[in-house]
Amino acid sequence: MKKLDIIVKYADLNRFSLAYVLSILEHYAASRRTVRRIVLTRDVLREIECSDADLMIIMYSLMTPQIFEEDLVKELKEVDLARKKRDKSIILIAGGPHASGDPTGTLLKLGFDIAVLREGEITIPRLLDSILGYDDLSNVPNIVYRDGDRVVKTYDYVPPRIIGSAPFSRTFKIYAPIEIMRGCTHACKYCQTPRISMFKIRYREIDEVRRYCEHYAKSGIKIIRFLAPNGFAYGSDGRRPRPDKIEKLLRTCKQIGDIKLVLGAFPSEVRPDFVTREVMEVVVKYVHNRKIAIGAQSGSDRLLRYIGRGHDVACVYEAVDLCIEYGFQPCVDFIFGLPGETEEDVEKTVKVMIDLARRGCIIRGHTFMPLPGTPFENEPPGKVHPKYLEALREIERMRRLEGYWKEQEHIAEKIHRYLQENKCIT
Ligand code: SF4
Repeated sequence: MKKLDIIVKYADLNRFSLAYVLSILEHYAASRRTVRRIVLTRDVLREIECSDADLMIIMYSLMTPQIFEEDLVKELKEVDLARKKRDKSIILIAGGPHASGDPTGTLLKLGFDIAVLREGEITIPRLLDSILGYDDLSNVPNIVYRDGDRVVKTYDYVPPRIIGSAPFSRTFKIYAPIEIMRGCTHACKYCQTPRISMFKIRYREIDEVRRYCEHYAKSGIKIIRFLAPNGFAYGSDGRRPRPDKIEKLLRTCKQIGDIKLVLGAFPSEVRPDFVTREVMEVVVKYVHNRKIAIGAQSGSDRLLRYIGRGHDVACVYEAVDLCIEYGFQPCVDFIFGLPGETEEDVEKTVKVMIDLARRGCIIRGHTFMPLPGTPFENEPPGKVHPKYLEALREIERMRRLEGYWKEQEHIAEKIHRYLQENKCIT
């Protein structure tokens, strides 16, 4: 029997998504004696050097900004050299939003053997089975791989439910926010989320969420964060909130006792059109967070329409007013340098940001990044207009400013260059 080691690359940024991957792997290893070790490491090269495995599967979870990190680029080159020495006994697999958005570049430019698109619960066990010879790679859903000179993509599959990967790793004691929702039915043109899940939304069953909350509480974790692309959409059709379902979820989890629940703040920010009086009546009773994070993205109705947000500026104001009325501080996100942004859009957005900051909102600034797999992937990188910089200085003086727009401006340029070069090789 082959000795198989699965090496998972650790990075702080991926800590929470890795908890889900590790839980899938732990479950898989429990049923396959071939898996000798699962290793979580920052230093993949050292593991390669030390391992006497017959076969090593090395897994990375990648977000697009990470592929420009010098350490990662260097490590991938060295891993490639190391595996050439060991011939075919190392298989490099990439997952995460970047692999989903740019699978071909992930193979041809970054040097991976297989890119996993979409979610891992079904794909990872079947992929491992196929690597171990129990199935053919072409039967594994949601992957892109190299077959000689060809790049092969297998069939797409989005399961109808979120299928039971736990949000924590028993072995490595990583406890991620509990994912209650996956996917999105909206179509903001800069966003990878709905495309990865093919515009489908699924919710984790309340009983399952409750079981995880119990496990967290027993493990000493008293503040439990929920993860959702739109925190107040739980149980809905993705278009209108279902306060009854949100209440059932929160009430059921709170019955566990001494835990505090976080919903509507990182990592379950909300759309403004889901901040309704009925929803606020529910969340105010149960949640621990005193801030609500709202995605506004622009202060221009014209631009909001163009980027496909599906709400207007008035809706942002209504959401903000409701949050304040119920005693929450709104944290409002804006994206600078969106494709098609005009001077007039900038001026309108500046006015809205300053107005919201004066009302007590935190303003969180982002710069537009052309992410692969989105309708805006070929658009120019976002530039922060000088009028934004001036407004941001004023908001900073009010102590109401957050965000990484400066760093994102540099990353956006790198992503743009990378994707344009990519087009030339594919
Ligand atoms: S930004 Fe939010 S609402 Fe828009 S598509 Fe992405 S997840 Fe959905």
